[in-house]
Amino acid sequence: PQQMPAKKKQEGPELIGITEPKDGDLSEWYQQVILKGDMLEFTDIPGCYIYQPASYRIWEFIQDFFNERIRKMGVKNCYFPLFISEANLQREKDHIEGFAAEVAWVTEGGKSKLEKRLAVRPTSETAMYSFYSKRIRSHRDLPLKMNQWNNVVRWEFKHAVPFLRSREFLWQEGHTAHLTEEEAGKEVMEILDHYASIYEDLLAVPVVKGQKTKNEQFPGAYYTKTIEGYIPAVGRGIQAATSHCLGQHFAKMFDITIEDPKQDVKEGEKRNKIHVWQNSWGFTTRSIGVMVLIHGDNKGLVIPPRVAEVQVVIVPVGVTAKTSAEAKEKLYNEIEGLRTVLEDASVRVETDMREGYSPGYKFNDWELKGVPLRLEFGPKDSQNGVVTTSRRDKDGKDTIPIPDVAKKVPELLETIQKDMFNKAADEYAAHRKIVRQWSDFVPTLNDKNVLLVPHCLGGPCEDQIKDDSKGNIEGQEVDARAPSMGAKSLCIPHDQPEPIAEGTKCINPKCGQNAEKWVMFGRSY
Ligand code: AMP
Repeated sequence: PQQMPAKKKQEGPELIGITEPKDGDLSEWYQQVILKGDMLEFTDIPGCYIYQPASYRIWEFIQDFFNERIRKMGVKNCYFPLFISEANLQREKDHIEGFAAEVAWVTEGGKSKLEKRLAVRPTSETAMYSFYSKRIRSHRDLPLKMNQWNNVVRWEFKHAVPFLRSREFLWQEGHTAHLTEEEAGKEVMEILDHYASIYEDLLAVPVVKGQKTKNEQFPGAYYTKTIEGYIPAVGRGIQAATSHCLGQHFAKMFDITIEDPKQDVKEGEKRNKIHVWQNSWGFTTRSIGVMVLIHGDNKGLVIPPRVAEVQVVIVPVGVTAKTSAEAKEKLYNEIEGLRTVLEDASVRVETDMREGYSPGYKFNDWELKGVPLRLEFGPKDSQNGVVTTSRRDKDGKDTIPIPDVAKKVPELLETIQKDMFNKAADEYAAHRKIVRQWSDFVPTLNDKNVLLVPHCLGGPCEDQIKDDSKGNIEGQEVDARAPSMGAKSLCIPHDQPEPIAEGTKCINPKCGQNAEKWVMFGRSY
């Protein structure tokens, strides 16, 4: 139900909340959470969404964090055109084969048909590399490291899911050229670490690092490194971000060459032309959806403090019709004081002084928006010299003495950040199961797990596993609610659970090859 129009918000404390539990219809829950949390709106084009300020702000936190990291690596931001000529797009064969089904084309300009249709970029390798060919003349031009923050369009025909799988999405795409394979490889891993850090340190989302199998790697890549996430509510994996070493394929197609600086040459002898080594890496707004799916609950969004636009909201409580004007003014002044103290301590804080709304209504409202920490402050708190705290990620309340607020609130925000990550990491770890026998494969998958299995790394074998792990397997009961899609390889985790023992066979009984690696398989988004 991707085109459901936004429901009009209803007034009243009970009515503003989420009406579908997370363990009920997950896609209905997800839709309510992002719409009512003001993250996103639908449009009249399937798979194209409006990112409201609440989600765009998270994207900006990600941009700030990542820009700082890549600048230190010498990467420079730039911008390339939205359109790619057909001739350019087709210059790398595997690449175009991989994307052909998803490319959107512009065929008309105003009232006239274009002589040559234009592709809307699905990614910009081919848009950038003719330029790279001109720009890179000698080894002194290397490494060349450029990045752009832009939008891309992939006309997916699979069911679109806001943030996770949209037709237009925002991302950054980094494109670099290096003298050696080794240097390129080092960067691929550095970027992968930064990506993992965005998920784990900012979004409090645990990921597994690994390499894609040949079947699943980027079209035209030499190899693809990936981070893989896990959505506990459905037990499915999700490709969180990818960092590709493109090898020299594109350099050959786009003629990106330099004279070999390491060659021993005699006077007057020409140096050999060698092709550069290239990488490309991309991180998208999918990450925001993953964060929502992992941390959101029956009350709405739960935003990790480091990416929360509002980290703390202060709500006045205990003000009744009987409260005198002076008492009210005193309370409100104290709340202003608390706000100043927190702002000075670099906390992003709001006060909710709206008249005519009960504290209960306000609590629900801020819970829906996922604000990580609520401070309640009323005449009783004032008398006791404390503020009452209520964490979004946990039930229950606590207090902080007023003089400690500047120190304790930032500490508490960090605790919330860490607790959110640890909870999600424990859940992921508990659902990464080692499976050694095919007979356990589908049942374990159906228990909402991703699996670590001994595998031969063969492509056709992967296809067979995907087929054989679909819904109705002979003699095996399949949970009616479990998604019936087959399992695909998510990655070859860098962190292997144990060495593959000599003579271990591939998990697929129809395969018969020796196992090469532990491969993580799962149903995936
Ligand atoms: P790729 O260029 O194909 O390696 O894609 C880079 C990253 O984009 C992937 O690792 C996914 O996390 C993400 N991604 C792929 N397709 C979509 C989509 N339709 N919407 C949002 N994110 C996507």
